[in-house]
Amino acid sequence: MSVKSTTLANVPVLRPLLPAADRLLPYLRRIDDARVYSNWGPLTSEFEQRLEQALQLKQGCAVSASSGTAALVASILAVAGRATPQRRLAIMPSFTFVATAVAAEQCGYQPFLVDVDAGDWMLHPHELAKHAARNDVGVVIPVAPFGRAVPQAPWKSFRDRTDIPVVIDAAAGYEVLERDPSATLGEVPVCVSFHATKSFAIGEGGCVLSRDAQVVRKATRALNFGFVESRDSRSASINGKLSEYHAAVGLAEFDCWVQKKTAFAEVSTGLRQRFTAAGLAHRFVGAPDVASCYSLFVCADLGEADAIQRALAATGVDHRFWYGLGLHRQTHLREAARGPLPNTDALAPRIIGLPMAVDLSSDAMDRIVAAVKGGIADAG
Ligand SMILES: *Cc1c(COP(=O)(O)O)cnc(C)c1O
Repeated sequence: MSVKSTTLANVPVLRPLLPAADRLLPYLRRIDDARVYSNWGPLTSEFEQRLEQALQLKQGCAVSASSGTAALVASILAVAGRATPQRRLAIMPSFTFVATAVAAEQCGYQPFLVDVDAGDWMLHPHELAKHAARNDVGVVIPVAPFGRAVPQAPWKSFRDRTDIPVVIDAAAGYEVLERDPSATLGEVPVCVSFHATKSFAIGEGGCVLSRDAQVVRKATRALNFGFVESRDSRSASINGKLSEYHAAVGLAEFDCWVQKKTAFAEVSTGLRQRFTAAGLAHRFVGAPDVASCYSLFVCADLGEADAIQRALAATGVDHRFWYGLGLHRQTHLREAARGPLPNTDALAPRIIGLPMAVDLSSDAMDRIVAAVKGGIADAG
């Protein structure tokens, strides 16, 4: 490979772009006038209404949260409550971001890590038959890998059949929910993150979505000290409310969302065209299959993954393993109970997160694809 050129700037793995200050100003002035700063003030309520409209949900089927993790905690508390000695486990895929486990632990559950499907990288209810037969499972948390769509129907029937509550972690999934709400939204609560690194981003934030307004009401209570319409704490809870300031960013993000989606799509298309020209189209995974904020390359084996990482580093292109090597490789979760994880172990070190940004330049795209191609040649 060529020696690292000192004249080229590094290509960061993700360079988020949120609404500029000028776009926020009209909303901030509304906050100044109303002097309401939190507790579902006017901006937060408007933001939730815009979410409901965008996702074709009835009123009362979306509640905002201070983060995707807070949304997960509130959903778990809403449908499963805190863990008990008889229901002490939370089943989740090992192939996810650590927040899935963090949220379950916050509710007192011990994570039980299971494998994902080798084809679509997610958990399926039929594969859970043997785990769910355990009588110590309190909740199951399927994850939308990189925002890929998790269908509602199989999980609703799993829940109905087993009586085990389900919460879907679709933290990066806002775009696929918007594209196909009828298949991806239902009674089983779906949690979304609006973290700066996600496609629809407001800095820190999230939401809980469910067609069962009762579930959303319980999640709302769990996000606000267990209060509902009185200052009597009625359930296990946290303070997970979205502030009016973050709702201002959310409203401004909605104002620019069509342009942002278009910009993301152009970059995804640009990368896909280059990988196609390099004969590598089948190994590139990007929007619309996964969320627009991800550009993934699936390596053939560990040797190739090493060579590609070296080639990227040599030309100053950053990369990231978004889910690490699986939850079971995180120090804190090393001792977590788990089933066999052959697919996670085989996938996690081979799915390289490449740079993505709404304004990724043609030059950067050329460099990324050239480095991947060079790495493959080196691994030859
Ligand atoms: C981003 C993410 C989260 C956490 O969302 P925050 O808003 O950062 O709390 C949870 N799960 C998955 C799969 C994620 O990608």
